[in-house]
Amino acid sequence: YGAGGGYGAQQGYSDERNSARRVADHYSARSNQTLEERENSPIIHLKKLNNWIKSVLIQLYARPGDCVLDLACGKGGDLIKWDKARVGYYVGVDIAEGSIKDCMTRYNGDTDQQRKKKFSFPARLICTDCYEARLDEYLYEDAPFDICSCQFALHYSWSTEARARQALANVSALLRPGGIFIGTMPDANVIIKRLRESEGLEFGNSVYWVSFGEEYSEKKFPASRPFGIKYKFHLEDAVDCPEWVVPFHLFKLLAEEYDLELVLMKNFHEFVHEYMQKPEFTELMRRLGALGDGRNDLSTLSQDEWEVSYLYLAFVLRKRGQPPTQ
Ligand code: SAM
Repeated sequence: YGAGGGYGAQQGYSDERNSARRVADHYSARSNQTLEERENSPIIHLKKLNNWIKSVLIQLYARPGDCVLDLACGKGGDLIKWDKARVGYYVGVDIAEGSIKDCMTRYNGDTDQQRKKKFSFPARLICTDCYEARLDEYLYEDAPFDICSCQFALHYSWSTEARARQALANVSALLRPGGIFIGTMPDANVIIKRLRESEGLEFGNSVYWVSFGEEYSEKKFPASRPFGIKYKFHLEDAVDCPEWVVPFHLFKLLAEEYDLELVLMKNFHEFVHEYMQKPEFTELMRRLGALGDGRNDLSTLSQDEWEVSYLYLAFVLRKRGQPPTQ
């Protein structure tokens, strides 16, 4: 990474569009699961743990009345978490048409019972590519936002420097001074470490695999070409599409160019160990069902699921500047 840009060869534009489309189609095609299907998922406890991590981030950083921007909101799996934080307004953006439709159904309620229990905040949903579009053009009437969230999705922006920059430019342009950006994404340090430990270009366990192409047979990733490092990721009952490595120290430097300063970065294992100690979050984990009855440990999670959680990190950035006085 060198100051002022210049990161070497980039993938072609149309390749890029195709990859973004592949990701969108993959998520669009994933139908909503019934409660029974969800409980039978081989990664049900991992899903619950991920929900707990997102809930903790939201509870730590959202304040009542906040204006929320949820980038890559998916099917709206976090709507209830934002409701619990008593936010005042919600905008969700996602590239996958199917997911935005599901998100809308979830927000409006698809059963009489759900329709009675409306969310307490107004919401707007937009279907577009968050890493290509200038979101301030769509959202000039909604901005500024107090908090922006991008859960399990920012790595889809690291296919090219232009997309990674657009992602951060969008967040920076839409957050108020002092506004918070929370997110979760793969931990590149762990992914590269696992790759180097493996014999070939693949690694994984019974619930996931990661596969790098032959172009990475030397397992070297020069700092001069930090974008477009692609691998295939498969997670049973969840993900099956290309992803891109996000070297975190470069992400931090790039974010600073957009006035976003690092507040926190923790691998999921560290995050869990730290916040599990806090009684309010232990209780939350029990309610979500990620803890076994009466036990303060994560023994309901299989070893293979626990290994997957080690592949991820949580981050918090803050937009420079003083918040406006109330
Ligand atoms: N944030 C949601 C959550 O935590 O439940 C969804 C996470 S899902 C793993 C990744 C999401 O990123 C998908 O909904 C996908 O459509 C979305 N996504 C991927 N690339 C995107 C892009 N370029 N613009 C907007 N959304 C994108």
